[in-house]
Amino acid sequence: MDNPTVFGRIIRREIPASIVYEDEEFIAFQDIRPRSKVHILVCPKEYIPTLADYPDTEEGALKLGKLLLTANRIARQMGLEGYFVRIHVGEKGGQEVFHMHVHLRSDA
Ligand code: AMP
Repeated sequence: MDNPTVFGRIIRREIPASIVYEDEEFIAFQDIRPRSKVHILVCPKEYIPTLADYPDTEEGALKLGKLLLTANRIARQMGLEGYFVRIHVGEKGGQEVFHMHVHLRSDA
């Protein structure tokens, strides 16, 4: 599936981003409009538009679990003592970019 979103373009290196973490499955970069002292976006490289698109299966649970564990790994690497994660789901849930992502934020 083509990924026309801005995050797809970041993953393909078509536009720049301040990348803080990358592995085979995930990428994380600074939010361009930070709303906390630390504001990172963690994305799967696989094109999944929203949380609601994850299958309600073991495979979906594994993918989502890995996404959250990746956010936690980044928080640990950054030395954050506390943080929160936030996921907007759908236009009415405040989602602007339809490539799955977790906001990893901290004001601590
Ligand atoms: P959401 O409302 O959950 O879809 O959040 C999308 C987030 O992406 C917002 O916090 C934007 O500031 C951020 N954003 C949009 N374009 C870029 C970009 N090119 N690089 C980094 N962050 C971006």
